[in-house]
Amino acid sequence: MDAGSCNACSTAGTPLMKLSLGKDFFGRTYDRLSPSSDQSPKWYCEPCSMMKNLQRDFRDIRMEFDKLAKGQASALSEPEAKQRAQLRLREIAAITGGQPAGSSLLNPADVTQLIDQFHTRA
Ligand SMILES: [Zn+2]
Repeated sequence: MDAGSCNACSTAGTPLMKLSLGKDFFGRTYDRLSPSSDQSPKWYCEPCSMMKNLQRDFRDIRMEFDKLAKGQASALSEPEAKQRAQLRLREIAAITGGQPAGSSLLNPADVTQLIDQFHTRA
């Protein structure tokens, strides 16, 4: 794999990593939930593949949080999972906050907002 470029930032000429989504933050496989999302793994440069992982966890957590907020069954009903999600969100906020602005993959403001929503519910 050489002549490719990053699927997120289009950088070429750096080592690229193939990213297959695998399991979500709550340990469920993507293949089962949404086969289409894992059938075409993409290639990312190193910074983007890290952001992509953060983005994936953030999306999983936000999706489960929305369910919780609507009173639906949610992986976050487990206090342990909820705590783990909150820790992960803080980690994501710390990492994205230190990134140069304008990453198209994850908006730090979205992360901060979700952390606030967690606090409001607690
Ligand atoms: Zn990239």
